[in-house]
Amino acid sequence: MTERHFKKILIANRGEIALRVMRTCRAMGISTVAVYSAADARAPHVRFADEAVHIGPAPSKDSYLNIERIIDAAQRTGAEAIHPGYGFLSENADFAQACEAAGITFIGPAPDAMRKMGLKSTARQIMSVAGVPVVPGYDGEDQSFEVLRERAKAIGLPVLIKASAGGGGKGMRVVRYERELEDSIEAARREAEKAFGDGTLLLEKYIDCARHIEVQILGDHHGNLVHLFERECSIQRRHQKIIEETPSPALSPELRKQLCETAITAGRAIEYTNAGTVEFILAPSGEFYFIEVNTRLQVEHPVTEMITGLDLVRLQIEIAEGKPLAIAQEDVKQNGHAIEARLYAEDPSNGFLPATGTLHEWDEPASNDGLRVDAGVEASTEIGIHYDPLLAKMIACGLDRETALRKLTYGLRNLVALGVQTNREFLIHALEHAELQSGSYHTGFIEEHLDELIAKDADEDVLFASVVALYLLKLSQAEAAVLPHVPANYRNNPFRDPSIKLQTGGEAFEISYRAAGDGSFALKCGDWQASAPLVSFELSRELGTVRVAIDGVQRMFRIAEASDQFFLQSQSSSRVVTRSPRYPRAHSASEHESAYAPMPGQVLKILVVVGQQVSAGDALVILEAMKMEQTLRASTAGVVEAVLVKPGDVVAPGDTLVEIAAISSSPIAGV
Ligand code: ADP
Repeated sequence: MTERHFKKILIANRGEIALRVMRTCRAMGISTVAVYSAADARAPHVRFADEAVHIGPAPSKDSYLNIERIIDAAQRTGAEAIHPGYGFLSENADFAQACEAAGITFIGPAPDAMRKMGLKSTARQIMSVAGVPVVPGYDGEDQSFEVLRERAKAIGLPVLIKASAGGGGKGMRVVRYERELEDSIEAARREAEKAFGDGTLLLEKYIDCARHIEVQILGDHHGNLVHLFERECSIQRRHQKIIEETPSPALSPELRKQLCETAITAGRAIEYTNAGTVEFILAPSGEFYFIEVNTRLQVEHPVTEMITGLDLVRLQIEIAEGKPLAIAQEDVKQNGHAIEARLYAEDPSNGFLPATGTLHEWDEPASNDGLRVDAGVEASTEIGIHYDPLLAKMIACGLDRETALRKLTYGLRNLVALGVQTNREFLIHALEHAELQSGSYHTGFIEEHLDELIAKDADEDVLFASVVALYLLKLSQAEAAVLPHVPANYRNNPFRDPSIKLQTGGEAFEISYRAAGDGSFALKCGDWQASAPLVSFELSRELGTVRVAIDGVQRMFRIAEASDQFFLQSQSSSRVVTRSPRYPRAHSASEHESAYAPMPGQVLKILVVVGQQVSAGDALVILEAMKMEQTLRASTAGVVEAVLVKPGDVVAPGDTLVEIAAISSSPIAGV
């Protein structure tokens, strides 16, 4: 292969990964071309690139998945190569082939290797022939329910149903009881067809208490193939990783050697080139099994970069340019320890449902040796329903695991993301959990400890409400002194009252106040007054920073304001405080129940008709949001009185979908 030198690369992606690839291009002196959908016209990746091409409307299938438009964009700008990032077209062999056909280099493996690994069933078959251990399972062509059921029984429950064309944990279902098989197979098939256009399913023995450990490999066009050691990715929700680290605390040097050598065997079996990841499941017995090869850069690649000192994107580009690998296996060393946490716009206490909204404030912790933030957002970014809700990744490294953990936790405490619900506190709780700290965790960690991880300190509600009360008081004082008029949003001036009414965490708080003469206020809310006799205060509206001293200890709060809502965050916690209820409760629960949309989405299926009797827990509606299915269930027994939506309808959070005349009372319906 003749060596080339790219001058311009198009990045067929968005968000943090597009920016991350562009940074390396810049460092190498390579010009960058961004592509963007209508929803991303002002996105950070577009502004960072040297050139940018609009490729279509917001839905990915019309933009980031549109092969023709992307290749056309590369040709119009004269880009010689395309980096696909992860997700979108990164594992699409047809795209890689279309690039080659257009004379554009695809920065990734050969289309043939992608095709072989693209279907999990084919990948399993190839690897078992190559002598790589695979999980006992069924990857046959006969997809009839009868055959799948018989095979599941032969494998022995629990089994894991996977979409052969799947990725990102989508279309996966664990089945522990035979009676659940039919429903689970149907749901997995539907999700697989919807998400991947291919409903082929695969069954695997579900290994309880397993760990997910993967090995980074890199191959060039000169027959060199090396591994860059492992990444431990067992901290997952919905079979999707959220915290990753290297080295894995689970591997002895001997097991590490075996695992890495097996990854090389797997890579050789498909003559792998460029960057790829061989994923394994490690059973509690110490046996490990191949699960799949990801033929692209992984989200979690930075942990490998931090301990090897290598830039994986640079290596990918050099390999695509036809250069021989600049490193030999013996040059690759694991130095220290690195951990990554993925910050998502989602609600951990509500099934990790993706969240949407405007990111009013975004502030990364001050740069610190060994702390890296790969973000795809900035203040005022709109988080919509069209794309993956990953906002940023934070990665910390240190000489040892304890240092890396401590740095990452501290970094997350000092990351400000206001306006959209995120998993920041959930990540902090996970990193501080004794089991994670000990290193002896497995893929069930989040499910097992969910209650502890989502716990909120109810005592803090009043504190956050008080901070907002103070903020409003100080603001009105400051504005009265400086401005000749009160701004429009303060028309309903609450400050003439001796108290301010606020809501947070589903509770109402009436906070009364008294000016103490020295510029501070004494606050009172029910029994709470004793704990905050004196409060001092600094306000810097531009920064949205409020420092409150309670009983002599100052704490810092970040605050962002949007209409009647205040988004607040302290180092350890966050709240949304409102001046009035946002969604009025529709009815008294005793007579009437409604199922509301918990988030923006599209109605996929209505499972009930008007007049139908339902019991508490019966499924009413299947919603699809961000490519995930959500089943809305009745919270009470009753009769369906109205179905207010039809399949295909787009719904907003709080929209009523189904009304039920209740037979007995219970709380509002949920997911
Ligand atoms: P995807 O491509 O959708 O990410 P994977 O096959 O990589 O799917 O599996 C995702 C996760 O599901 C793994 O990281 C692991 O936690 C879990 N998993 C996969 N296969 C098994 C199995 N056979 N037994 C137990 N857990 C599994």
